[in-house]
Amino acid sequence: MLVLDYRSMSNEALSAEKADLEKRYADFKARGLKLNMARGKPGVDQLDLSMPMLDILNSTSNIYASTGDDCRNYGLGDGLPEMRELFAEMLGIDDHNIIVGGNSSLNMMFDAISCAMTHGFPGCKPWSQQGHLKFLCPSPGYDRHFAITEYFGFELITVPMTDQGPDMDVVESLVKDDPTIKGIWCVPKYSNPTGITYSDETVRRFAALKPAAPDFKIFWDNAYCVHDLTDTPDTLLNLWHECRKQHSIDMPIFFASTSKITFPGAGVAAMGASEHNLTVFREHYSYQTIGPDKLNQLRHIYFFGNLDGVKLQMEKHRAILEPKFQVVQEKLESALGGKNIAEWTNPNGGYFVSVDVMDGCAKRVVSLCKEAGVTLTGAGATFPYQKDPRDRNIRVAPTYPPVSELELAMDLFCIAVQLAAVEKILA
Ligand code: PLP
Repeated sequence: MLVLDYRSMSNEALSAEKADLEKRYADFKARGLKLNMARGKPGVDQLDLSMPMLDILNSTSNIYASTGDDCRNYGLGDGLPEMRELFAEMLGIDDHNIIVGGNSSLNMMFDAISCAMTHGFPGCKPWSQQGHLKFLCPSPGYDRHFAITEYFGFELITVPMTDQGPDMDVVESLVKDDPTIKGIWCVPKYSNPTGITYSDETVRRFAALKPAAPDFKIFWDNAYCVHDLTDTPDTLLNLWHECRKQHSIDMPIFFASTSKITFPGAGVAAMGASEHNLTVFREHYSYQTIGPDKLNQLRHIYFFGNLDGVKLQMEKHRAILEPKFQVVQEKLESALGGKNIAEWTNPNGGYFVSVDVMDGCAKRVVSLCKEAGVTLTGAGATFPYQKDPRDRNIRVAPTYPPVSELELAMDLFCIAVQLAAVEKILA
C-alpha cells in the first residue's frame, strides 16, 4: 500500500485527501456514537476478576490479624503487618517503613503535601511559611498530580520527559540552587501517560540529587509497579536502595495502591518513607483517624496470599488488556504510520498510550472526536495548568471500553488526527 507523507504532498493532493477524510468523519458523526476514552479506568471485566474477594469474609472468618488485633475494631494505624509486607514487597522497601491507608494513594499524596504545608519536615519550617514555592512536573505527566500542587499554590515547573524518564540535566540544574523547589512528581514505571519506565541511570541520578532545599521530596508514585502487559516487562531500579547508598533516604516518598489490581473505588493504598519522614506522617494520621479499614486489608490478604497471588491476578488483567493495547497500536500504525503527522508510545505495561500529533493540532483532534461522540482526555491535561505549549499531546486510555468500541473509537481518533493535520498543513 502506498503511504503518503502528508508534509510532502501537493496542495491539490492534500485537498483531495481532506475531502475524503471529511466524508469519513461525517459518516462517523452520523452513527451517534457515545464512547469514552478519557480516563484510565479498568473495564467491567477487569473489575469482575476481584468479585470473589467480596465473599471472603463472612461470619465464620478469622478476623484477627497476626498481631491478635480484631480487624473490626479501631487500631493498627500503620495497617495490618501482612498488608505492610505485601506493599513492602511490591515497592521494594522495608515493611516497617510502610503505612497502609484507605482506598486511594492519591489521597495519601494529597495528605503528604497538606501535612508538609501545615507542619513541615523535621528541622524545617512548614512549606506554607516559606513564601512562594515551586514543584517540578515532568510532562507529559499525570494531571491529578499537577492539580494537587496547583491547589496548594505551588508554581508548577515543567520538566521535559524523555524516553529515560524526566530530563535529569534539567532536574539537577533546577534543584541545585533553588531552595523554593520543594519536590517533583514521578511515575517511575509505565509512566502516566507515556508508559516509559525510568532508566537505571535516571533512578541513580534521582538518588544522588543534591537539592538546595533540605526538605525537597521525590514523590515516587509507583502506581503501575506490577502492571506488565507483555512478555518483555520493564524493570525499575530500586530507588530505596539507591538512596540508602547515597545517604539520601529522607528524599523519596513512595506510593502505591491496589486500585488497578482489585477495585479503584475499594482497593488499599500505601505510602513508604524513611523513619524520619514517617514520624511526621504518623503524627498527622494520628489526628486524622483512629485506624484504617482493616477488614478490606484482610480481604486483600486472604485473596492474594502474597506477591505471587498479586502477580497471578495481574496475568488475568493482562489477558484482558493486552488485546486492547494491540488494537491501539494496530490502528495507529495502519492509519497514521509513515504519514509524518504523529508519533506514539508502545509501552510494555501501564494504562496509557501517549500520542503526539502535529504541533497545534491536539485541541482540534480532541474536539473533532468529542463532536462525533468519543470523549478523550482533554488536550493539554498532561501538562501543568492544562497548557501544552505545543498543543500536540493526547493521552489515549484504552482500558475501559470493550474491544469492539475501542476499535471504533480508534478509527475515529485516527481520522481526526489526519483531518486536523491536513487542515493545519493547508492553512
Ligand atoms: N497515580 C497514578 C500515576 C495514576 O495514574 C492514578 C490513577 O489513574 C492514581 C495514582 C490514582 O491512584 P489511587 O486510585 O490509588 O488514588
